[in-house]
Amino acid sequence: MPTIDIPAVYGSAVFGDKEMRKRLPKETYTRLQRCIQNGLELDMDLANTVASAMKEWAVANGSTHYTHWFQPLTGTTAEKHDAFLSPLADGDVIMELRGKELTRGEPDASSFPSGGIRATFEARGYTMWDVTSPAFLSDNGETRTLCIPTAFCSYTGEALDEKTPLLRSMEAVSHQAVRMLHLLGDKEVNHVTASVGAEQEYFIVDEATWKRRKDLIFANRTLFGAMPPKGQEMEDHYFGSIKERIADFMREVDLELWRLGIPAKTEHNEAAPAQHELAPIHTTANVAVDQNMIMMNVMKKVAKHHGLVCILHEKPFAGVNGSGKHDNWSLQTDTGHNLLNPGKHPEDNLEFLVFLTAILKAVDDHAGLLRLSASTPGNDHRLGGNEAPPAILSVFLGDQLTAIVESIIRGGGTDIPSSAPMYVGVSTLPHIQRDATDRNRTSPFAFTGNKFEFRMVPSSACIADANTVLNTITADALADFSDEIEMAENKEAAVRALIRRELSAHQRIIFNGNGYTDEWVAEAARRGLPNIRSMVDAIPEYTKPDAIRLFSRHGVYTEKELIARADIAWELYAKTENIEALTMIDMAGKDILPAVVRYAGSLAETVNALTAAEVDAAVPREMLERVNILLKQAYRALNTLRERQEETARLSGVERALACREQLVPAMAVLRAPIDHLEMICDSDVWPIPGYGELLFNV
Ligand code: ADP
Ligand code: MG
Repeated sequence: MPTIDIPAVYGSAVFGDKEMRKRLPKETYTRLQRCIQNGLELDMDLANTVASAMKEWAVANGSTHYTHWFQPLTGTTAEKHDAFLSPLADGDVIMELRGKELTRGEPDASSFPSGGIRATFEARGYTMWDVTSPAFLSDNGETRTLCIPTAFCSYTGEALDEKTPLLRSMEAVSHQAVRMLHLLGDKEVNHVTASVGAEQEYFIVDEATWKRRKDLIFANRTLFGAMPPKGQEMEDHYFGSIKERIADFMREVDLELWRLGIPAKTEHNEAAPAQHELAPIHTTANVAVDQNMIMMNVMKKVAKHHGLVCILHEKPFAGVNGSGKHDNWSLQTDTGHNLLNPGKHPEDNLEFLVFLTAILKAVDDHAGLLRLSASTPGNDHRLGGNEAPPAILSVFLGDQLTAIVESIIRGGGTDIPSSAPMYVGVSTLPHIQRDATDRNRTSPFAFTGNKFEFRMVPSSACIADANTVLNTITADALADFSDEIEMAENKEAAVRALIRRELSAHQRIIFNGNGYTDEWVAEAARRGLPNIRSMVDAIPEYTKPDAIRLFSRHGVYTEKELIARADIAWELYAKTENIEALTMIDMAGKDILPAVVRYAGSLAETVNALTAAEVDAAVPREMLERVNILLKQAYRALNTLRERQEETARLSGVERALACREQLVPAMAVLRAPIDHLEMICDSDVWPIPGYGELLFNV
């Protein structure tokens, strides 16, 4: 196997710090860094110099085109390619990228979801260079394009993308965290960064098999499918040895990501058959969001090189675990300190306790918004199922921190368990220090040593929403605290009193038990914690007075932007369900039921032939009767689904989304049941689509 010089390859396809140092005049480099670190505006002079160096680098690396790369509200990324080409008066051309082209683009805003902010006749929108995320080279077949990360907004300045609110929320949380740190006496800190590491779960299936499933092609999930004899019950896939085809795929993904400066680090098989996970090392929230978008694209592209398909949907298969994204989040100061690091004695670490209290308050006060930030139509099939996190938000703190919280609330006097060495009784094994908290895989929001892990986030979605909400609600709690402490004479006494009061007020959000049980659902209801079951129930959170107050207080969303986002969400839900319904109608009507009818016909012929031969036809007759009952059920259910699809398609907005949830989704379930049953009793030769067994176990 050829060796790879990873340090040489790493980051070779990004115009990052190393390349900038090399290619920019020292003075330009320093000015640019100052702009990046202090959020200052770029002047055109600076932009021209950077643009020219960036183009030199891109062209030297085989690139002919550049694009402003952004995240419109479609959940994916968008790009429009322009050649570097610039004609000269004498008919020759030069390769050029000017500061103006680097910093500003003008895509047609009306062609992307805007929730009514942009009508088709007033189409102007702008993309603006995000200097905090490095430009990179993306390969598409033979072409190599320079991708410039940008924010996207309308002519009137409203955000039309995922990045703009995220950047605003990062500024808000930095501002409020710095304010609090200064109040606590830590005056050195000038800036606080939200940092994020997202663990990405995904499924891999064989491409030839995938191509025979219209539901996977159109809806990214199976809409029919009986369980195979084996599912995930043997628990042999999680951390199992990785198969060769998958290992080759992972190796190519790693290489591509390393070239792009994305520190892909951990890879393993997940709980369900054919399910895997990839986690890069954390970085600033903004870069982590961009890297996750790039990562999803790379995984899909590379899978095809291996005759595979990468499925990012939250619940591609009923009956086995779905996929999520664990969003690991913490706050770091520019002095190199992680504010969520409890240290050896968290009970005496006032700074840590203030931030912990703020986050508990934030999650408790805005559980609905966090739930909303993790809502996609696909996640409805995952959250609240008997698997990864329930739909109810709670916080896992572990024994040590919970004991500290309880002790503070009581006014002291409790033994705090500390992390103790662990002995397993074999002298040759190393004595390791036990972590302060055990793991709790069922919690939607878990403290994991020096960060929180938000586990509701959907596998297919952009993680910007979740982090925008996390940053903003934390900023808001910190702002309330600082407002109060600023007024106090004795600051330290005020901080201690505030921590005690707020911990008592928000203790109900702490839950260290098993989140999958019915007892927890009942207990959460007693505690008054919201249980928002579906996306449709979550969307109204956008426009509640409290959300409008929260987001406008910190300059993250205007009311108009929130209304727009709610509109887009209603539409996304309805469109997704409509596509699923149409796909089921197509598959059932054109492929599955005709196959069952043929099978019934062959059974009938057998019955006739046996009867004519005067032998007992009881068995095929019984088989035929069973098939015929299910066929009738399926046929009626198909007709009902057709009617409901037509009815809901006539509606729009909220009405349509609600009708889809109330009418369409149940009708789909009614059609699926007899068809899954038929799959189990029909001759496998007549079944027109590959089953779960083939999809999940043949790579
Ligand atoms: P696990 O599966 O145990 O949750 P992984 O190692 O798969 O853990 O992933 C943990 C993720 O959390 C990684 O992306 C890691 O870089 C990230 N992470 C670690 N520390 C921090 C931090 N302080 N802030 C944000 N993310 C972090
Ligand atoms: Mg994890």
